[in-house]
Amino acid sequence: MPRTRTQRCPSCSTDSLKATSNPSILDCRHCHGLWFEDGALNRAIASQHDHIDDYDHELHLGAALRTSDRQCRRCKIPMVHYQLLEHYTAEIDCCPGCDGVWLDKHEVNQVMHSPTLKQALTDLNQKVTWKSWLFQFFTSMPVEYNIRPHRTPWVTRALILLCSLVFVAGMAAPDTNDWIFVNLGLNSDTQSPAQFVFQLLSYQFVHGGLMHLVGNMYFLWIIGDNLEDALGHGAFLALYLFTGVMAALAEILLFDSSQGPLLLVGASGSIAALFGLYLMWFRHASLTFMIIVYQKKLAPHWYFLIWSLINLFGMLTAQGGVAWAAHLGGFGLGLLLGYLLRDYVFRKNPLIAMLNQPEASISR
Ligand SMILES: [Zn+2]
Ligand SMILES: [Zn+2]
Repeated sequence: MPRTRTQRCPSCSTDSLKATSNPSILDCRHCHGLWFEDGALNRAIASQHDHIDDYDHELHLGAALRTSDRQCRRCKIPMVHYQLLEHYTAEIDCCPGCDGVWLDKHEVNQVMHSPTLKQALTDLNQKVTWKSWLFQFFTSMPVEYNIRPHRTPWVTRALILLCSLVFVAGMAAPDTNDWIFVNLGLNSDTQSPAQFVFQLLSYQFVHGGLMHLVGNMYFLWIIGDNLEDALGHGAFLALYLFTGVMAALAEILLFDSSQGPLLLVGASGSIAALFGLYLMWFRHASLTFMIIVYQKKLAPHWYFLIWSLINLFGMLTAQGGVAWAAHLGGFGLGLLLGYLLRDYVFRKNPLIAMLNQPEASISR
């Protein structure tokens, strides 16, 4: 069949298609969609991913859904709607005659990132295994399912190391432990303003007991790496320390000073803030929750809702020893910052933005 070439756009039906610097890719000047001839799309995708071989990569589409109302610009036959990926409901148009592909403007990013998107969805949609069951049964800690970070989480590791070193130093000698609590913990009867400001930072690295330390460090380990990857090392560190300071101030404001001076230690305030950030940016991630022996993957908002209710209950029934106000204050601040920084984080991390679209389907 002889193929006539027209400049007619399959989407907006104006004659606005113009060749780009790559002659196999045409761009519609009217609706800003892109037309890819033959294998041009596969080559364009491969060129964005180092690990994909140009020649053996094919666009792995999901199911053919139905005939499209768009026509191939060359073959003059209706194109076919395909689902981009099995767990991603974005639909793109392909010509059954010439393998040409039409992408609307908003689909270009999704398709160009489709190999990464596919890998991410495979990671996110894993089922719980007997290993995750055993882990949670014996440790009572959740298992996290999220995308793999690209950056090495140096800041997260350094924070964990520092907290652990302070704890080990305190264990080594009772005298040292007392010194650490008095000088590095946040004491409401500290006289010098300079020392008080220092303690607003240093209290975050002191822990009252092994379970306090292990619980906090485990959460920092599982969610810190993704947050550090999304924000960058410096911004992550700044946010971590800042929210720790604010959480301490919340605890001091709500503290009943008739109960004697306040001594606050632990990373819980900052970690509660990280929960808030995580909830706003990683809706597609899962944390496992275990009821006696039944383990279930939960979306972060369900997981942290349960966690907040436990904290609220603790605060209202005023059980001593745990800084409930710092937890909830930190969490609230994390939610607010997560909301304010959402667009910035999504712009910097296209994969996270795509996984937050309704097209991504997560099985839990
Ligand atoms: Zn157009
Ligand atoms: Zn065609």
